[in-house]
Order: sequence, then structure tokens, then C-alpha cells
Amino acid sequence: MIPYFPSIYPDETLYSVIYRFHVHTGSITWDQTFIQLYGYSQSVTTCSINFPYRISDLVARFPQNWGISEDYILEKCTLLPFYLPFMTVENKKEIKRLMCGSTNHFIVAKFGFASNDDTKIYYCPKCVEEDLVTYHETYLRRFHQVPGVLVCTQHEILLESYQKKLKITFIPSVQNREKVNLTITNEEKQTLLDLAKDIERLQTLDSYSFVLESIYEKYDKLLRDKGYIDKNGIVNVRQISIDFNQFYGSILQVLNLPVKLVKKNWLHNLIKSVGLNHFPIRHVLLMRFLCGSVEEFFQELLSHEKEEEMTGEEAPFGDGPWYCLNPVASHYKQRVIHSLSVRHYSDRGVVVGTFDCRECGYVYTRSYTNSENASDEYKKNTVKHFGPIWEKRLLEMLNENYKIVQITRELDVSYSGIRRIIKRLSKDSNSLRTYDREKTYYKERILRDRQIVEDLIQKEKLGFITFSQVKTHTAQRWLKVHDFDWWSQRFPYKAKKNSEKSKREIEERDNYFLNRITHLIENWGKDGLRPIRISRKNISQELGVRATTYEKLPNTNKFIKANLEKNRDYKFRLVDWICEDLRKDSERVFTAQDVYRKIPIKVPEKWLRQYVEEKIKTLYPGDYFHY
Ligand SMILES: [Zn+2]
Ligand SMILES: [Zn+2]
Repeated sequence: MIPYFPSIYPDETLYSVIYRFHVHTGSITWDQTFIQLYGYSQSVTTCSINFPYRISDLVARFPQNWGISEDYILEKCTLLPFYLPFMTVENKKEIKRLMCGSTNHFIVAKFGFASNDDTKIYYCPKCVEEDLVTYHETYLRRFHQVPGVLVCTQHEILLESYQKKLKITFIPSVQNREKVNLTITNEEKQTLLDLAKDIERLQTLDSYSFVLESIYEKYDKLLRDKGYIDKNGIVNVRQISIDFNQFYGSILQVLNLPVKLVKKNWLHNLIKSVGLNHFPIRHVLLMRFLCGSVEEFFQELLSHEKEEEMTGEEAPFGDGPWYCLNPVASHYKQRVIHSLSVRHYSDRGVVVGTFDCRECGYVYTRSYTNSENASDEYKKNTVKHFGPIWEKRLLEMLNENYKIVQITRELDVSYSGIRRIIKRLSKDSNSLRTYDREKTYYKERILRDRQIVEDLIQKEKLGFITFSQVKTHTAQRWLKVHDFDWWSQRFPYKAKKNSEKSKREIEERDNYFLNRITHLIENWGKDGLRPIRISRKNISQELGVRATTYEKLPNTNKFIKANLEKNRDYKFRLVDWICEDLRKDSERVFTAQDVYRKIPIKVPEKWLRQYVEEKIKTLYPGDYFHY
């Protein structure tokens, strides 16, 4: 069981929650963080922002009363809801299954959602500033990571971005800003904002039960009406491409989605391949081109669904948006909730609605029986989630020694409700450290920190960390103050010198690293990403361990030496990969020059030139059709 997990902020990615967990718990290595969260270690390089996987393993380690399920994570903390409306029923099932249970990270490639953008992290500087005031920390919003979203819809300013580093990735800070290299006109910004708002709308669509085929039926009808598809069903790619370019102008370049005048551009692929997966932004662009907006496009499809859903007594809660009843939120008793799910208990004649506020995370239920009159607009039954804003206010009030009766009144919660929440929050020692002086808390913390220190000592003995890392760890210092008896028994302990280490210990470490490195090299380059050379530096980086901890071990060292990659071999491997990558961009034939530019190299040596030219010849034996 995980004793602590940060409260999930509105629209936060799982990636970001894990990052904050790493920071809050003061983990020294990512290994340690992943072991705490998943029960085993995994490489941080494979932690995807857009489509995380192994969600089941994580959820299984949460206490049940937290109410965090796999579906909750999929729906609230991943980009999936933006993609779902455009997937077939089978693909929807499959991608959910893989994200929950898969042990590899090929999900993105498998569903055709590979993009260079997954290496970038987007954020809005204004949102960050506000976060720091509200939460004293900031986080990554998933909406800002959706490909095609370049503007914050709340603040209407351009998003900024930075490169996702392989090993350590930072949450944005206002001090550490990077320059925006996007310079665009006001008109372009307005278009980007409209597009972003359309994309934002997508996440609510999957709760309606239309299927992908109905979207394509509508495309077909509209394209025929406008004369882009003739009576034989043939698409006039050239005409629609020209009109499309004229309609959007330079914005397609800004989005990096130019429609070239060739036979098979992305627009053609989107229109023709129903079963394949396409980025949501592409659908949005086509919908706006055909109908003006996403809203407009879905109007018929949705109004049809709505009629079935909301008729007579089936819709006792009226039309949305509905009231948010979070007394702490600035929008208290305002109609800001767009998400309502209704359940019928026909045997009891009761209808229960669950109202989910996406702005503050407050989720409450409200029941309705036939006999009752719905005069009290602000009635609620239970609160399922209080959300971060509410919880923060509770902590403040506890810190400032408010009386319980004041708290129950201001926060609109029962006495037993507060007790339940405090019990849950007290597992989060970070937020309660300042006021919770109860014995139970100390007991728990002492046990936990003793365990941490024992682990640290163990790791130090194995050479994973240095003695000074043990000495400066907060757990060790805290115990010195609060648990002096135990501490003085365990400390002062001295770090063993290398020479004192027994032969057996060295053998064990040698075997351990030999195993890990063998495994690493066997799987080297199988991730499909741009190849990196098998070098000492890269091995140490992949392991996340300093080279000094294993380079003196005889067998390990011999193995590494035998497996280092020569420059020439590496270049061949790289060229293979680059060619494969360029070929996917089927819109034009690429040249040797394109390959050199990607390596990058200015004047290639003869052996490399020969290899590249041979390679291209085998890829394009015949002529290639061009407009
Ligand atoms: Zn913003
Ligand atoms: Zn709210």
C-alpha cells in the first residue's frame, strides 16, 4: 500500500502527479520513486506524458477508500478522452486495456499517435503564476499537452514549451522561463484560440454514445454536398487541398500540418481511412472547414442523443450547466458544472445525479424522487470528492486553530465527515506536519523513517549512494531529533571503506550489475526511438547509476568492453533508423542530403556515403508517382 499520494489537481496529468510525488517524498532516485509507487523499478525514459501505461499496478497499491480507480485515472489524468471520440469501438477497448495492463510503451506507436511533440512539455505562464498562489506549487495540465493546442483558453495567451529531458524533467517555474520562438499575428492567435476551444470540447464527447462511423458518414455527406467527392466516390484531393490551404492560410504551417499538393497528403488519409487513428486536431480542422466549428458539426449527432437522454421525468435536474456547491470556490452557487451523470433506481423510484465540477474538483450527488418537489436548488446528498481547493482551505483552518464548529459551518461538511478526511490526510505527512502533533502521527512517522534509514544504509553498503547522502537525508535528521534512542543505536555508523569490503560482496555486486547490463544491452534500441550509441556514458545514463559504482567490477567491465559500439556500426544503425523514419513521411521521396542533415553531418566520409546511397536505392527501386 502507498501511504501517501498527492491530491490530484484539476486536469493534471498522471506524469505530473508522479513528479510531485517524487519531490514531496524527497526520493533520491527515480528508481526509489517507482518502487514506492509500482512495487518495482522502471525506466523514467519510458514514462509517457500522453499515454501512461501500467495503470493497474499503480491503482492496485492505493487504499480502496481513496476511491481512485483505473477509469478515474484514464478519464481525468491522461489525454485519452480527447482521442476516444475518433476511435473505433475495438480500438477504444484495446487502448484502455494496454494503458492499464501493458508492460511496454509501444502504445503510442501501435495506435499511430507517435509525434515529436511527446518530447515537449507545454505550459501557460499565467496558469503557473496562479498555481503558485493557490497551491504553492505548479503542475502540468493535460489539455495543454494535446497536440494542436497552442493557446491557453483561460488566459488566451500562447503556451510556452520546453524539451522533455530524458532523465530529469522539470515542472515549469516562472523564474526559469524559456523563450517562445513562435511569432504569430493577432489573427493567427485568434484562430489558434478557436481551435483550442474546439479541442477542449472533445473531452466531453465520449460520454455520448455515437460511433466513429457516424462521424465518417457525416464527412461523406458534407464532402459530396460540396462537390469534393464525385458520384463514383472518388475524392478530388487536389481541389480540396487547394481550398483547405486557402481557408486556413499560414495557420497550417504554425501547426506543422501543411497540406501539400501530392496524391496522398494527410487530409486524403484522414478522409479515406475510417478505421485508422488520427490526431484529434486533424479532425477538428476538417470539421471547421466543413461546418464552421466542432459544435456545429456535432449538433445533429448530439441533439439526437440528448432527446433520448432527457425526456420528461428522466431529466429531473433540468438543463445544464448546473450549480457548483463548493463553498470555498469563487464560483460557489454558480452554474459552472457541465458534467452530469444520471442513474436510475427504478425499484425505489429514485434518480441520482452525480455533478462533477471540472474547475475545482468538487463532486457531489443529488437524488430525486417522484413525490418530491424540486424547489431547493442547492440541495445535495453526499460529496464524493472535495477537491484540492477545498482541502487546502481545511488545512488552513486546522492550522489556524479554528473551532470544529466553525469549520463545519464554513466548509459545509458534517463533523464525522471532517474526521474521515483528517484521517485520510494525516497519511500525507507533508501537509499535516505543522499542526498534527498527535501521537499516532509520530508513531507512524517514526516507523516509516526508520525503514527509510535502514534502506539507505543498505544502499550505501551496496554502493548505490554515498555516505553523505545518508547523513544529509531528512529522515535521518528527523529521527535524530524525535527518536534519539533508536538513532544513537544505529548511529554513528561508519561507511565501510572499499578495501574492507569482502570478496563475496564484490562478487555479488559484479553479478548484479552484469545481469542488469546484459539485460540492458540485449534490449538496446528496441524501443523504436532514435538510436543512441552503446557507449560507457550512455550505459551509465540508462542505468541511472554512476559509472564509478561498477567500472571496477571485473566481469561487468569485461562485458561492457566487449559490447561497446564502434562509430561506424552506430552510424549504420542510425542511418537505417533515419531512412525508416523519413519513409513514413510518404509525401515525397527523400535524398541522401536529407539523411545527412538528420545525422547531422556536413561532409560525410566515403564509407558512409556509399552506405546511404545503397540504402536509398533498395528503398526506392522504381519510380515514384508525383503530381
Ligand atoms: Zn493559462
Ligand atoms: Zn466548482
